[in-house]
Amino acid sequence: MFDKKEIEILQKSLSRLQEGFSLPKWNPNEKWGDVEKILLEVARKMQNNYPYFHPQYAGQMLKPPHAVARMAYALAMYINPNNHALDGSKASSPMEKEAVSQMAEMFGWKNYLGHLTGGGTIANMEALWVAGKVHPEKKIVASELSHYTHERISGVLGLPFEKVACDTLGRMHLKALEDLLLKGDVGTVVVTLGTTGTGSVDPLTDILELQKVYGFRIHIDAAYGGYFTLSTALDNQVKEHFNNISYANSIVVDPHKHGLQPYGCGCILFKDPEVGRFYKHDSPYTYFTSAELHLGEISLECSRAGASAVALWATLQLFPLTADGPMGQGMNNCHKAAMDLYSKITDNNNFVPLHMPETDIVIWAPKDESLSQISKRSKALFQKCAAQNIHLALFNYPTRLLPDHWGSIKKDREQVTCLRSSLMKWEHVDWVDRIWEIVEKEAS
Ligand SMILES: *Cc1c(COP(=O)(O)O)cnc(C)c1O
Repeated sequence: MFDKKEIEILQKSLSRLQEGFSLPKWNPNEKWGDVEKILLEVARKMQNNYPYFHPQYAGQMLKPPHAVARMAYALAMYINPNNHALDGSKASSPMEKEAVSQMAEMFGWKNYLGHLTGGGTIANMEALWVAGKVHPEKKIVASELSHYTHERISGVLGLPFEKVACDTLGRMHLKALEDLLLKGDVGTVVVTLGTTGTGSVDPLTDILELQKVYGFRIHIDAAYGGYFTLSTALDNQVKEHFNNISYANSIVVDPHKHGLQPYGCGCILFKDPEVGRFYKHDSPYTYFTSAELHLGEISLECSRAGASAVALWATLQLFPLTADGPMGQGMNNCHKAAMDLYSKITDNNNFVPLHMPETDIVIWAPKDESLSQISKRSKALFQKCAAQNIHLALFNYPTRLLPDHWGSIKKDREQVTCLRSSLMKWEHVDWVDRIWEIVEKEAS
């Protein structure tokens, strides 16, 4: 499960790293006995986790970092570079620039401004902050199933925010959006390509048509879904939305969601490099060793983990962002796993799916006569599966947005609790049969 080979490679690389510095020896003088004791205690405590790394964990959006990312991160930590200024990150800042340029290229951008962030929340914050600078006083709007961060961050930034209603597939409703646009006070539309809850993809292609009429800024929140740009397996219409990402003004994508990275790795990209002017600040103590761009000059965060950039860079060497390489195939696998699970659900009369997965999230529930019964049974099944080491997640979906095939079920609640699976590991495609076998058994 946790491979010895990894430690072997790490040890070799550490020796190579050490060869780069010819300094007098010194002894760090650690109390190794105490350190070992504490580490063993940490290991014992960490046993109290769901097995997020295993394909039988098919619940929340958790994906283990690839070994290459884990090792590169660990190796970089012996230096602990700070990608704020080049003084503190001579090697890792250029690696960040290189990695970010590959992320931008995935969306078809050659000229852009971008950098890594601590995660999707901060990346979205930078996007909305710039949106507010470009359209002061104007509204930010995002769908009612968009990530809660947009409303909260608009609040932090003091920008007016409004929700746009969704359709029964969980996507931004175009008519509802146009009704808001008609009022003339919308500055920025947040388009979510892959919602965190249901994996739904907002209709970017149609929103771009509305943009021609109403003229607003488009920010794409692809924190979770961005890597699906590489997938050739998606439904044609969904694929087209991803193909149109390059027309956006800004994009957020989280390498720590689908990109095999440890947490602490988000990415913000702006189409117009000129927005860099908003970031201008004077730091009297950081930017001396080079006239080249210091990433802290275009980032709201100051200190940032150089190790994150090193891990992402290393991962992109092994898995370049191409549709026909393993990364694209991996994203295809995720979608296929979701479609396989969906068809098992539709084939079984004891279950009812929410809708066909657009990415790799599947929502479904045990069939019953009312939403209260369904909610109760979802929770029970969630527990029973967990006891068999099959880990799912729960999700509350608004009754108002339920699709037609839920028509005969008694709507006695505002929300229904369903089961939710994020099938975001490449291996999931080989595990759907086993997962389903156990789910079916526990449900009967
Ligand atoms: C996860 C997610 C976020 C928040 O990102 P963090 O990395 O958790 O801070 C924002 N938007 C979407 C669509 C997400 O899936």
